[in-house]
Amino acid sequence: MGSIDSAIRDVRTGRLPAEDYADVFSDLHPPLTRHEAFVESDRCYFCYDAPCMNACPTGIDIPLFIREINADNPTGSAKTILSENILGGMCARVCPTETLCEQACVREIAEGKPVKIGLLQRYATDHLMANGKHPFQRAEPSGKSVAVVGAGPAGLSAAHRLAMRGHDVTIFEARPKAGGLNEYGIAAYKTPDDFAQKELDFILEIGGITIQNDKALGRDVSLDALHAGFDAVFLGIGLPSVNELGLEGEDAAGCIDAVDYISVLRQSDDLSEIAVGRDVVVIGGGMTAIDVAVQTKLLGAENVIIAYRRGPEHMNASAFEQELALKNGVIIRHWLQPRELTRNEHGEVCGITLDYTAITDGRLSVTGESITLASDQIFKAIGQAPAATLLAEAGIALSRGRISVDEEGRTSIPGIWAGGDCVADGEDLTVAAVQDGKIAAESIHRALMQKPEKVAGFVEAVMADNARATDSAHKPSHPRHVAG
Ligand SMILES: Cc1cc2nc3c(=O)[nH]c(=O)nc-3n(C[C@H](O)[C@H](O)[C@H](O)COP(=O)(O)OP(=O)(O)OC[C@H]3O[C@@H](n4cnc5c(N)ncnc54)[C@H](O)[C@@H]3O)c2cc1C
Ligand code: SF4
Repeated sequence: MGSIDSAIRDVRTGRLPAEDYADVFSDLHPPLTRHEAFVESDRCYFCYDAPCMNACPTGIDIPLFIREINADNPTGSAKTILSENILGGMCARVCPTETLCEQACVREIAEGKPVKIGLLQRYATDHLMANGKHPFQRAEPSGKSVAVVGAGPAGLSAAHRLAMRGHDVTIFEARPKAGGLNEYGIAAYKTPDDFAQKELDFILEIGGITIQNDKALGRDVSLDALHAGFDAVFLGIGLPSVNELGLEGEDAAGCIDAVDYISVLRQSDDLSEIAVGRDVVVIGGGMTAIDVAVQTKLLGAENVIIAYRRGPEHMNASAFEQELALKNGVIIRHWLQPRELTRNEHGEVCGITLDYTAITDGRLSVTGESITLASDQIFKAIGQAPAATLLAEAGIALSRGRISVDEEGRTSIPGIWAGGDCVADGEDLTVAAVQDGKIAAESIHRALMQKPEKVAGFVEAVMADNARATDSAHKPSHPRHVAG
């Protein structure tokens, strides 16, 4: 690490030879060949009551799709996958399968070597996207229209299912491109070759979905207007801001929002133009922390340290993700919590002091010892935060700042549904957002197609009234009082 006294931060573009970037940012999990897919699908026991399937948040019939691959029917296999998860191609690339389906696989439990479900899913979905046409058709037009806010995994999944059911969908998306964090957040080495936009095009092939980019709820369009103008509204706005460290000077140059940095990296056509420090410190313990650490290391940073305030077992990043960071030369330091930023004479952040922590009496506390690390860039990766003002103004019931929903994704306002990262108690995973969108879309469909409900006793009351009216028509009427 460089000297903490150094006034000049060493932040540079082009740390690698130009020809190396494509190589170091290449596919994290290269696809299986046809032969490899056969061999891998042969390892599956096609379990009855398959535990892998129960562990998949979208409930994909995993033994069935693997059997279809085994029978050399990758198109049928992809249809099985996509019928439950229309973003099955992206999920095959980004799902932490090691904590979901592959963790539950009986081969993992017996041999510590699960069937490679994620790679098989990718094999099938890639095959269909490369060779087939869109596998689903729209139902007859329902005459109903639905507004979807946010074109991330939750919004796209909801939009596709609604379009399939025959409804007209308009997506309002704040950013210039659709895709949400698939386009702007996921690590570049997990989704090379512009896969997020390819998958978006594939989803839109269903028809009936219009995307209005650069249209933000709260800025260009109000919730009241959407509520009044559409038959239903789905909110899939994710978590647009990041949590602050709460330290003085964190707005200064050198202290960077990790999600913003990754977003710039993801949109870059030339990674050699992304400036990276020689010494980098990342604060956090989740996927974002790992992603920014690994990507700065790949961009050529010399020393990258992740500082996390608890132990490895408490990190949100899975064991696989932690190992990925270590393999790429990132150092993970546990039990360290940021206390103070150091700034040079230009006001730029050039170091950070962290307190050592420990758990005493069940609570995290500082030990009294500290360490100061020189740093050219400090990345904040301690979680994202909901759109507090927007949601407060909307008057929707919230739980710990996120939208409260029932099991069908209904919010406290009739006619408005929500899903994905913006709702309370979510898992903050792509696959969970896809499932939320699907469930909410089916709930919206049921609500829109519902015939007016019978009111108990209403028919009987009308019949009785008619009978009374007929009766009285045959009786002499009472003399009317005439005002005189
Ligand atoms: C850096 C990073 C890496 C990640 N890596 C992984 C991973 O490897 N695997 C995994 O499973 N999960 C990963 N996740 C989590 C995953 O990306 C999210 O759980 C998922 O994208 C949530 O989908 P969503 O549709 O709810 O929200 P988002 O993907 O955030 O999409 C929300 C959309 O709404 C739009 N929007 C926001 N506000 C408004 C508004 N006011 N008006 C209109 N539009 C609006 C946004 O622009 C965005 O397009 C990662 C997250 C981050 C931050
Ligand atoms: S648990 Fe493993 S072996 Fe069993 S069906 Fe699932 S993938 Fe196949």
